[in-house]
Amino acid sequence: MPQDFAPGADDNPLLQEWAGPFGVPAFGRIRPDHFREAFARAFAAHNAEVAAIAGDIAAPSFANTIAALEASGEALTRTVDVFNLLAGAHTNDAILAIERELAPLKAKHWDAILMDAALFGRIDGLYRTRDRLALSAEERRVLERYHLKFVRAGAALDPATKARLADINARLATLGTIFSQNVLADEQGYALLLESEEDLAGLPDFVRAAARGAAEERGHAGKHVITLSRSSVEPFLQFSARRDLREKIFRAWTARGDGGGATDNKAIIAEMVALRTERARLLGYDTFAHYRLDDTMAKTPAAVRSLLDQVWAPARRRALADRDALQALLQAEGQNFALAPWDWRYYGEKLRKLRCDVDEAAIKPYLELGRIIEAAFYTANRLFGLTFAPRDDVPVWHADVRVWEVRDQAGRHRGLFFGDYFARASKHSGAWMTTLRDQEKLRGDIRPLVVNVMNFSKASAGEPTLLSFDDAKTLFHEFGHALHGLLSDVTFPLIAGTSVLLDWSELPSQLYEHWLERPEILRRFARHYRTGEPIPEDQLRRLVAARNFNQGQATVEYVASALIDLDIHLQPGPNAAFDIGGFEQAALTRIGMPAELVMRHRPAHFQHVFAGAGYAAAYYSYLWSEVLDADAFAAFEEAGDIFDSGTAKKLHDHVYAAGGSRDPAELYTAFRGRLPTADKLLKRRGLADVSAQA
Ligand SMILES: [Zn+2]
Repeated sequence: MPQDFAPGADDNPLLQEWAGPFGVPAFGRIRPDHFREAFARAFAAHNAEVAAIAGDIAAPSFANTIAALEASGEALTRTVDVFNLLAGAHTNDAILAIERELAPLKAKHWDAILMDAALFGRIDGLYRTRDRLALSAEERRVLERYHLKFVRAGAALDPATKARLADINARLATLGTIFSQNVLADEQGYALLLESEEDLAGLPDFVRAAARGAAEERGHAGKHVITLSRSSVEPFLQFSARRDLREKIFRAWTARGDGGGATDNKAIIAEMVALRTERARLLGYDTFAHYRLDDTMAKTPAAVRSLLDQVWAPARRRALADRDALQALLQAEGQNFALAPWDWRYYGEKLRKLRCDVDEAAIKPYLELGRIIEAAFYTANRLFGLTFAPRDDVPVWHADVRVWEVRDQAGRHRGLFFGDYFARASKHSGAWMTTLRDQEKLRGDIRPLVVNVMNFSKASAGEPTLLSFDDAKTLFHEFGHALHGLLSDVTFPLIAGTSVLLDWSELPSQLYEHWLERPEILRRFARHYRTGEPIPEDQLRRLVAARNFNQGQATVEYVASALIDLDIHLQPGPNAAFDIGGFEQAALTRIGMPAELVMRHRPAHFQHVFAGAGYAAAYYSYLWSEVLDADAFAAFEEAGDIFDSGTAKKLHDHVYAAGGSRDPAELYTAFRGRLPTADKLLKRRGLADVSAQA
């Protein structure tokens, strides 16, 4: 195709009706340059719709204002959904360039709407008279959420302040995109090439197979490559007997975004933190954390810190005790060096074998990807009556993507589920759930298209992909999010599926992980990939018992990241000279971070917090949700059946189907009869006894 070819509507699949099966876009025909035109038209169409609502001469009503806003922007939503999917799961230089261009345009587009005085006048008028409007409970909730959304975006401020906010938002959007692209570049730019048998010392077959797959993908067929993807680097750190290579890759892994060159994120962080603080203060809050947390279940920085502190102290004590045990172990082996961060996982694995007699390499053959997917489906069937039928007639964005049609107990179509499981160079690291379309009933009975993206190391051709137990947990976690999207049963898009308060959003996903850990599931689905034999009972017992092993390390790594995220966003005033490196060091010293551990995410590659504002000042959400999920699963244990139908029905109605239709505290109370406490979480992490000794 010639360079100067300008695609028209006839040619641009993004502008045509998505006439494929279930209204899935024609991925095979989408080219990056289609997005520019699709976005330009979608922004214009949405602006015209919003202008008509704001300028309506009829008196404001819920229907002509809130419902009309909810029904607007359809083309924009679907274009954003497709673009975000590709930008995350299958990107390239052209998409990366559009992503950078688009970030400030999108921020400007939304600011113009959220700061539109006439539009806000209508919403504010409705909000003030909401008691007299005869709204359904869901409508009232949507009106309240709209009002809050506009106020939090600055709709009630004077024009000059609004203009400054809009500039800040556009700049933050650009910075977030660059941050994320820098991390991706550092990940793509690094490969630890293992040339000889000595380089492979200690690596079990499954690590070698995955490393061969990664080498093939990167053009080193026949060799072995370890990448900076968590599912590649962590097993290497766990098994490699080569201390020098462990140190080498560990340093590269933890230096992502902090390399000092063109992809260094430290200056970006300084600017983002200053802008976030300024924004919060313009909106009347002391700090960004106060602003961010005001619209969460936790509500205040003090509530977040109280939870984190409650967990930090016992986790740190457990980690220090484990450190001493690891040091003793390596000395018993005749070594005399001090345990370093790149040794923790290696000796941790040895200690796990000693203490729990669980061998990760011996378990993996029982955790074949296909069977773990089946296990996730089986659980959804037992709890919620869902069935999953593979479809091969639906367009996908990469040949590895699999698709299932989801039906409920009555045989009704509920949506499609897409699984994109394997790591590749075109994919961002991590694991996430996203959608190509959300459930709603406003513009018709719309059924969702839900996507899970993972980064499992793909075995080389002809070999089955074997998961670690952590990988399998990640699959269940993201599938829990997927169910939150698939089971959604609300009218308005604003509150559909996973569009909920952030510290509630991890409940459906983390809760789902509990079923994977149960013998009822593992006995049935953890079968040897070659023989089909179930995992031996003693192996299973030890695996379940080993769950709490190394929780000190995992909890310390996580809570340290959450505490630093909170502290970063408690900056009292905008400070363009903010030195994140020094801040990080000082914060770690203050909390007493064990020298042998690093944060799960260091600031320079903390994408949850800086690639967009998703989890900024809110990384604690996982732990907050864990308080909820530990307590929620106990409801099934108390009922004596992990598939208890009465409990499952309440869970369905008040959690998975409810979206953001009510306040989370109300939803949880409707499910459980009361609010949770943190004791089940500490018990689940095996930290309750450590806490008691203190
Ligand atoms: Zn999650």
